[in-house]
Amino acid sequence: MRQIAILGATGSIGGSTLDVIAQHPDRFRASVLTAHRNVAALAELCARHQPQLAIIADPALEAELARRLAAAGVRCEVASGMDAIAAAAAGSLCDTVVAAIVGAAGLDSSLAAARAGKRLLLANKESIVMAGPLLLEALRVGGGELIPVDSEHNAIFQCLPGGRPDLAKSGVRRLLLTASGGPFRGRTRAQLSDVTPDQACKHPKWSMGRKISVDSATLMNKGLEVIEAHHLFSAPVEAIEVLVHPQSMVHSLVEYVDGSVLAQLGNPDMRTALAHALAWPERVSSGVAPLDLAAAEPLHFEPPDLATFRCLALAFQALREGGDAPAILNAANEVAVEAFLAGALPFLSIADVVESVLTELPAQAVVDIQTLGERDRAARTAARRVLRNAC
Ligand code: NDP
Repeated sequence: MRQIAILGATGSIGGSTLDVIAQHPDRFRASVLTAHRNVAALAELCARHQPQLAIIADPALEAELARRLAAAGVRCEVASGMDAIAAAAAGSLCDTVVAAIVGAAGLDSSLAAARAGKRLLLANKESIVMAGPLLLEALRVGGGELIPVDSEHNAIFQCLPGGRPDLAKSGVRRLLLTASGGPFRGRTRAQLSDVTPDQACKHPKWSMGRKISVDSATLMNKGLEVIEAHHLFSAPVEAIEVLVHPQSMVHSLVEYVDGSVLAQLGNPDMRTALAHALAWPERVSSGVAPLDLAAAEPLHFEPPDLATFRCLALAFQALREGGDAPAILNAANEVAVEAFLAGALPFLSIADVVESVLTELPAQAVVDIQTLGERDRAARTAARRVLRNAC
């Protein structure tokens, strides 16, 4: 029986994970559930899944969570704060951690799980983008394993022998990351000047949280995934290519030197990747409908439009720059996306903010987590200043 901590249980990935877990009560148990401020949703999930521990990140809401759980007759421990989430990720109540907090807020708990040797099911791509070498070192020291949940990386993991081998020795030539293209595929810059947050969050194929939905619309999501693939699979930047594929059925591909190209296909539903990662190396059902290729629309592929969707080009630039440039990129993007979602920044200016901050803060070597935290804060301060000047 796997004991699973779901960090970010009230989110889109959290909900899909709990759906798969509930289908296999003989194999999986949700032992720890966490949320940020959505205390009502967390209490409801606790009533349904009966974890041993519920944690609300905002300490001001701990008493309310306890009150709601008591009223619903749910008997589980209650805690609050980010330190409690990191402690639970490393603690004895779980052997598996689903890292599904959004943004840099997920870094400490991802690191804690890695250090403690847990099986880390990584959805929180921001942690590996920010701190790739530190997270991989923590995994090595902890002796646990990382199974990627991001559908593209999960697909590549499935197409590689042994999951994450030395690419050069395995005869891999290229990793081809597919991208849906988001809701604005095919639009010109002029057509993007006044798009709204709701339009940006209306993804044609995937149902996701608002931050990753905006990242998908700008293609920053694909940029973060390029950086994620670089770290997860030790792939040089020249060996990673992005291919726009609007049907979102081919989740990514691996090209070998003999010309073979292996792909993983499936309906666009995160429960497939989650079921794979939860049960690996076995397979369990996920509840996802079978893929009907004969009835499916034709599969289309095209190169990304880097001139319109500049965030993807900026992510490649940050990866080439190396050091902590990806962490700077990520922090600036988080601030810019928050401003866009709040109606305080035009869609096209997200890339401008990220570019300004990358220029202002040239890359430094990644030394340790404290220094990285300082650089993350410096990038956020710089991004907020750029925002103020732009308004
Ligand atoms: P959601 O916005 O739907 O959910 C985010 C979760 O994190 C919620 O449980 C939220 O709690 C919690 N949370 C938010 N901020 C904090 C914080 N500061 N401290 C602690 N907890 C916090 O996001 P998604 O599920 O869409 O995405 C989660 C992660 O998975 C992201 O990194 C995303 O890039 C990645 N991912 C998502 C995919 C998807 O299909 N959705 C696909 C691949 C990767 P609350 O509800 O209380 O706010």
